[in-house]
Amino acid sequence: MAVTKPVRNKIHVRKGDVVMVITGKDAGKRGKILEVNLKKSRVVVEKVNVIKKHTKPSQAMPQGGIVEKEAPIASSNVMLYCPECKSVTRKSVKVTDAGKVRVCKKCGVNLPDIK
Ligand SMILES: [Zn+2]
Repeated sequence: MAVTKPVRNKIHVRKGDVVMVITGKDAGKRGKILEVNLKKSRVVVEKVNVIKKHTKPSQAMPQGGIVEKEAPIASSNVMLYCPECKSVTRKSVKVTDAGKVRVCKKCGVNLPDIK
């Protein structure tokens, strides 16, 4: 019997990060990460991969209708976006007196740390 170890996936972005899509039909789009699924290594990015979802009539929508909703995309399809460099970047971790901060690898500007 195969023993599967619990996988603790780590991805390079966090909820609240501004990222740019680098591949796929939404390549070049920028948005904020709304949700992170560590198990599947997928992220939901604001206004990216928007799908139209048909819904059954409900109390909120007695007619039923079409709801636009962001669908998750693979985290490897996005890169962190640095507002300072105005381009995609990688993060590096700087240790300060106050603790670890994430900074842009290119320009060294602090990236907002949203927990
Ligand atoms: Zn930068």
